Amino acid sequence: IIEMKGVHKRFGKRPVISGFNLTVKQGEVMGLLGPSGIGKSTVLRMIAGLERPDSGSIRVGTAHIGYVFQEARLLPWDTALNNVVLPLRALGQTRWEATDRARHFLKQMELSEFEKVYPHQLSGGMRQRIALARAFAISPDILLLDEPFTGLDRGLKETMKQLLESALLDSNTDVNGTAVIHVTHDPSELLDRTNRIVHLEQQSNAQCVGACLTKAIQQGQPS
Ligand code: ATP
Ligand code: MG
Repeated sequence: IIEMKGVHKRFGKRPVISGFNLTVKQGEVMGLLGPSGIGKSTVLRMIAGLERPDSGSIRVGTAHIGYVFQEARLLPWDTALNNVVLPLRALGQTRWEATDRARHFLKQMELSEFEKVYPHQLSGGMRQRIALARAFAISPDILLLDEPFTGLDRGLKETMKQLLESALLDSNTDVNGTAVIHVTHDPSELLDRTNRIVHLEQQSNAQCVGACLTKAIQQGQPS
């Protein structure tokens, strides 16, 4: 469902990604590991089309992409409920349909009582859960999770992990069969459902001064 081939990316004059390849199949739950600054978020942004590669190809099958950003990125001027409703409206749902659906996902994240609340009035963990509800609600074919547990205490991390796990397992939810790329620098955060772990590594090559993200090293067999 995703294929990146020979991708190069520089910021200003500085190359950060050089000759990078990555393939993700439908239904795969991939853990994408690598140290801070290696280019994990940049890879996700390119998959989502928020950033263009300088060269190389990125093919993404026609898909709804759910994206949980590294910093939640909710709309600050809108309520929790509307943050989930808006993308659904953008996909053509009526206000009634979208509201109904948004409430369902907020409930799943145990946030029903907070639907009228604005993001700045919520804790970081609550904002993360709204971001998850928003990503789930659109029935994503691809779910991009950029350090979704960052800044959460251990208890909340576990709760959110379990929410994710059960959503991915449950054949009645809209994220069953979704391709997931879970970015983290902490292997202990990986989901139990992970069926492929990819480590990002830097190397230098002809197009790259210093070291660039070049390699995705597989661990375990795709299933
Ligand atoms: P972290 O684990 O800290 O989130 P990361 O692996 O997600 O790191 P990226 O955010 O993808 O790393 O950044 C990769 C490199 O590209 C970094 O050196 C960063 O400074 C640089 N970079 C990313 N975005 C930009 C930008 N918009 N302008 C300039 N440089 C950028
Ligand atoms: Mg990042």
